[in-house]
Amino acid sequence: MNAVTDAPFRSKTYRIPETMKAWVLGDPDQLTLVDKPVPQPGAAEVLVRIDAIAVCATDLEIIHKGPPAMFQGGLPFNKNFTPGHEYMGTVVKLGQGVDEFHVGDRVTVEVHAGCSRCERCREGMYTACLNYGKNYGEVNKGHRANGFTTDGGFTQYAINNINTLAHVPKDMSDEEATLIVTAGTAMYGLDVIGGLVAGQSVVIMGPGPIGLMGVGVAKALGASEVILTGTRDNRLEMGRKLGADYTINVTREDVVEKVKEYTHGGAHYVLECSGAPTAVNDAARMLKRGGRICLAAFPSEPVPIDVAALVRNNIYMFGIRGEGKSATHRAAALMAQKRFDAKLIHTHTFPLEEVPTALRYARERIDDAIKVVVKMTHPQGC
Ligand SMILES: [Zn+2]
Ligand SMILES: [Zn+2]
Repeated sequence: MNAVTDAPFRSKTYRIPETMKAWVLGDPDQLTLVDKPVPQPGAAEVLVRIDAIAVCATDLEIIHKGPPAMFQGGLPFNKNFTPGHEYMGTVVKLGQGVDEFHVGDRVTVEVHAGCSRCERCREGMYTACLNYGKNYGEVNKGHRANGFTTDGGFTQYAINNINTLAHVPKDMSDEEATLIVTAGTAMYGLDVIGGLVAGQSVVIMGPGPIGLMGVGVAKALGASEVILTGTRDNRLEMGRKLGADYTINVTREDVVEKVKEYTHGGAHYVLECSGAPTAVNDAARMLKRGGRICLAAFPSEPVPIDVAALVRNNIYMFGIRGEGKSATHRAAALMAQKRFDAKLIHTHTFPLEEVPTALRYARERIDDAIKVVVKMTHPQGC
């Protein structure tokens, strides 16, 4: 970054109001727009003015059922809790001791700031923090997960630990920057199955947002072949635009046979993003012996798995939780270099006042919505 060109941003000050508009969760599926005090950043924190936020399937889960959100030790209902976690914005105020970021910096956020004191955080696995949700009263260990265990982003301002921030490249739009954390999740999945996928074959099962970003990231990391499987042709077509060498529509083709054909005998890796009940068994059958599966989706019910097939073929299986190990920064770097066009998955935009409509579009996939983004407007000088 050039100090001369940054200077005007750094000297900028922002008028921060005392209250802000925020959506809060009442009973399940009940959101209300209220006024809340603008929060104050503490040590190692900044106040982010939210400029855009994408809707995630997990937001819909939280608003409908509660988990994986855990707010003040329990379900997030009727606690003045603001959901939303895939946001980006502008740093407008620094907490004590913060010099890693400056007022005026455009940042995107990842969800988890671990507690920094448990066994997993100390290993860098902060998305698997053992003190999840312990951030209040007597049990406060400093854990934060935006929109899960602390207030999230369907509002105008949010507090963020600096560990959760990544700079947004200057020529990247607000809308695109909200997608970095999704690409970061896919990146983390590829990290845990081996990381260096250049020249190796990767099957991505399920063309949802994480799967589609997985295609872009795998291709950018040099994987060949990259194969995307799914049930909807238009999503598979989008996967091709993001770099998939092959796509397989599982309603029409034998997915295992096709993968074996395209990879000359079996794939090296599967990134499972579909949550389909047959996914693990299919994945095990389409891999080479010694292949690896990363599970990044939640099936809605427990599913039977052919364990003997896993054992016989020395198949490794991994689960990932969130966007760990700073994968978000690596995904942001690939997007800054325009190695894949994440913008393709952004389909709809709504203002803050229309969050319930934005959620409905995402839930019901109205007009084939994939990523629905809520974009804020700010009065001049704010
Ligand atoms: Zn999400
Ligand atoms: Zn921890």
